Amino acid sequence: YTHYHVLIIGGGTGGIMLAAKLRREQKHLRIAIIEPSKDHWYQPAWTLVGAGTYDYPDTRRSEASVIPEGVTWLQDLATEILPETNTVRTEKSGDYNYDFLVVATGAKYDLDGIEGLREALKTPNVCSNYIDPRKTWGVLLNFKGGNAVFTQPTTPIKCGGAPQKIMYLSDDYFRKTGVRGKSNIIFATPGSTIFGVKEFLGTLQEVVKRKEIIVRTFYSPVRIDSARNEIHFKRMQPGEQVFTPDERLQERSEGADTVVIPYNMLHLAPPHVAPDVVRNSPLAVAEGPNKGWLDVDMHTLQHKRYSNIYGVGDVSALPTGKTGAAIRKQAPVVAAHLLAQISHKRQSDKKYEGYSSCPFITGYGKMVLAEFKYDNLRDSDPLISKFVDTTKEQYSMWLLKKYGLPWMYWNLMLKGIM
Ligand code: FAD
Repeated sequence: YTHYHVLIIGGGTGGIMLAAKLRREQKHLRIAIIEPSKDHWYQPAWTLVGAGTYDYPDTRRSEASVIPEGVTWLQDLATEILPETNTVRTEKSGDYNYDFLVVATGAKYDLDGIEGLREALKTPNVCSNYIDPRKTWGVLLNFKGGNAVFTQPTTPIKCGGAPQKIMYLSDDYFRKTGVRGKSNIIFATPGSTIFGVKEFLGTLQEVVKRKEIIVRTFYSPVRIDSARNEIHFKRMQPGEQVFTPDERLQERSEGADTVVIPYNMLHLAPPHVAPDVVRNSPLAVAEGPNKGWLDVDMHTLQHKRYSNIYGVGDVSALPTGKTGAAIRKQAPVVAAHLLAQISHKRQSDKKYEGYSSCPFITGYGKMVLAEFKYDNLRDSDPLISKFVDTTKEQYSMWLLKKYGLPWMYWNLMLKGIM
């Protein structure tokens, strides 16, 4: 076929979860997923892979094995979306038409978004769990002391806590191997604080204090000079005139608003952008800080200008954390609205309230489960919060992260069961 009732672009977490949900509800729908990759990854476990406590091959399954039964997999790359004619162009197999389109392409890494990043990633002491968590583990194993710098970009990123989780695990690991005494751990963030939801901030600040981590806020990474092992930050705090470099780090200022920190190891999240097929389409937000991301209503997840188009997952311009946990709450909303529209029923009144969650691993065997919704308000999954105080570090939450969540992901979430 070249015409589908529902066409989904992207067979990652969002695309598969939604397709599975729709199939469960309506067997007769003709659904297809456009996805070029033969692999499907469980990315949340990459934090653990980076810390040497999870096997990388266990985070992969074949794409074929996760495509829900009865759903067509078009193994191709979507290259253009033409919403006026309900058409999606692909690289190899031509054009497809749809009654309803769901955009689930996730985010793309912009390796040119920080000068020198591309080259730096090829050097032995610069790593990213986002790109290759196995390398991160190698970097930790080889670290002999000095400055261990952890940072993140100014763009939105997947799982906002991930750049910190690997830092907390690194601290733990360096203490075990005895190298911590001769090193500085630095968290440099463009933000004003380490985490925006106040109920969890206190716990995380205690963790940072206990671990003697040096936090630098309003630091935006702009250049990596990998020949000299130095990273340049632009200070984002206008009005603050006096700058005192931290001598322990051999930090130095350069010009009015640049700070340079030498590193012995560097971990970072790369800048994220929406994939080209969305960014260059009429579906993207045209202006402002969300420019390029998919322009959907924050509660219904329906496109703001095309009523037969929806978004699910990281690609959407939503003021909340980009996580798989968020998708677990988004997919049922999109499914309900789509099915109501397909059957010409009244609009569904299901709303997405911005739920997202971030399992903050604070050491081997310790985790704080931060759950929140729009406006940085605390939220909680009623089942878990009934039994444990998720604002505190808990061993039970570590077990959930390492064993429970991966099992739930493959066996329940991707099957549209929860
Ligand atoms: P993805 O799962 O990334 O899938 C997008 C798919 O679209 C890909 O398969 C891609 O090939 C495809 N695609 C892209 N462009 C096109 C195109 N033009 N045509 C066709 N197909 C296309 N989440 C949590 O909930 N908890 C965590 O603890 C957590 N930790 C994380 C740690 C790390 C290091 C990382 C990297 C992520 C983490 N996440 C976590 C985030 C989570 O993995 C993502 O939010 C989730 O996978 C997003 O799903 P998605 O479907 O939007 O995108």
